[in-house]
Amino acid sequence: MNNLLVMKFGGTSVGSAERIRAAAAITAEQQRRRPVAIVVSAMSKVTDLLLEALRRAEAGDKAGVESDIEKLRKRHVETCCELLPEPERAPTLEGIAGLLSEFERIASGICLLGEAPPRSRDEAVAIGERLSTLLLVAWLNSQGTPAEVVNAAQAIVTDAVFGNATPLMEPTREKARALLLPMLEAGVLPVVTGFNGATADGRPTTLGRGGSDFSASILAAVLDASELWIWTDVDGIMTADPRLVPDCAVLDEVTYREAAELAYNGAKVLHPRTLAPLIEKQIPVWSKNSFAPEKPGTKIVPRIAASEGARAVTSMASVALVSIEPANSVLNGAQVMGRALDGLGRANVEVLAMSSSSYRQSFCFLVRESELAAAMESLEGSLALELEHGYLRPIEVDEEVGLLAVVGEGMRGTPGLAGRIFTAISRENVNIIAIAQGSNELTISIVVRRDGLEKAVRAVHAETHMGLR
Ligand code: ASP
Ligand code: MG
Repeated sequence: MNNLLVMKFGGTSVGSAERIRAAAAITAEQQRRRPVAIVVSAMSKVTDLLLEALRRAEAGDKAGVESDIEKLRKRHVETCCELLPEPERAPTLEGIAGLLSEFERIASGICLLGEAPPRSRDEAVAIGERLSTLLLVAWLNSQGTPAEVVNAAQAIVTDAVFGNATPLMEPTREKARALLLPMLEAGVLPVVTGFNGATADGRPTTLGRGGSDFSASILAAVLDASELWIWTDVDGIMTADPRLVPDCAVLDEVTYREAAELAYNGAKVLHPRTLAPLIEKQIPVWSKNSFAPEKPGTKIVPRIAASEGARAVTSMASVALVSIEPANSVLNGAQVMGRALDGLGRANVEVLAMSSSSYRQSFCFLVRESELAAAMESLEGSLALELEHGYLRPIEVDEEVGLLAVVGEGMRGTPGLAGRIFTAISRENVNIIAIAQGSNELTISIVVRRDGLEKAVRAVHAETHMGLR
C-alpha cells in the first residue's frame, strides 16, 4: 500500500462530541488525498475511571463499581446523543450498553474473587478504547466516510506481560496486514483501538499507560506506512515544560534519539516506547495539536544536518535516589552492581539514571517513586547476604530529589556546555547531588534537591538559549 498515513488521536483529541467532530474532520481531509488508518485512545480520563472501578471491585465495593459504570455510561451516551440524531443512535447506544455490560461482567467476577487476574484487568481497561472508537466510527459513517472499528486484540500480537506487554513484530505484521490491508484497499478507514493487543493464543493484553502512541507506531511499522502523525493537545515537542518555563519554544524537528530521550526523561508528549518500531524503516513522525491543526507541529526524523548544543530540558519530580555502598573493599563491585541491576530488570523496574564512583564501587541510581517499593524489595532479595553480613551498608533512599535531563545530539563534542549547565544551576543555589552522562553525549542527567528542581530547569533553559533558536 503506497503512501499510507497512520494517525493517532489521544484522549483529549476525542474527549467530547466537539473533539470527535474535529478528529473526524482532520481524518476525512487526509483521506481525500491518501489511504489513512487511525488509532484512537479512550476519551480523556476514561482509563483512570476504569482502573478505579477495578480497584473498587477488588475491594468488594459493588456500589462504587456501579457508580463508576454509571459515570462511564453517562459520558458516552451523552456524547453519542450530541453527535447523532435520534433515529441513527440506536446501534451505537446498543454498542455502548454491550461494552459496559462486558465490563460489568468482568468487574463482578473480580468482586467475587477479591482480586483482579492480570488478563481480566487488561481486557477490562481496553474497553475504554473500544467505546471511543465506536463513537468516532459512528460519526465518520454518518458524515459519509466509510469506517470500521478494529479491536487491536485482533491485530497486535504481544508477549504475556499483562499491563506492559511488548509486541511480537513478525506475527503482528502478518495479522495486522491480513486484517487491515483489505479494508484499506476497499476504501474503508480502519479505526483501531489504541493501548491493547493479545497474546498469540488470544489472551488480552495492554501496552502500558499512554500506550496508544506505541500502538500507532507498531501499526505504522508493520503496514509500511509513509508517515505517522500523533495528534495531542499541545503544539509539538517543546524545549521545556511550558508550565515551568513560560518562554519555551516548539521545536521544528528533533531526531528519534532526542525524542526518545525526552520521552524517557519525563516529557509527556510521546510514550517512550513509540519510536523504536519506526527506526528501522525510518518512518517520519509528526507530533501535532488537534486543537490547532494549522500549526506545523514537530517532525521527528532519523537525523538533522546541523544540530547545535542542547535542544531541550525535561524534569521528573516523582523520583527517588537509591544508594548502595560497600562497607569495606572486600566485595567485587561489578558483581554487586550486576546482581542489583539484574534483579531490578526482572522486577520490571526502570533505572532512569545511574552513577558510580569507581574507587569503592559505591553507586546510586534513580527510579520512579511509583516503582520504589518494587525496587527495594528486589534489592533486599538480590543483596540479602551482603546486607545481612554487613558487607554492604544499609541501602539509602532519598525521595526529596528530582531529575533534570538536558538532551541534544549536538552536545556531542561541544566543550564547555556541561560546565555552563552546572554553573547555571549552582548560581540558583541548587545543589547537584548526582550526575550522569553517557559517552554518546546525548543526555546529561542531573539529580538535584526536589525543591530546587524548577529553578534549575529554568536556569538551564535560559543559559543554553533553548527558547531562542
Ligand atoms: N487510554 C490509555 C491510557 O490512558 C492509553 C492512552 O491513552 O494512550 O493510558
Ligand atoms: Mg495519551
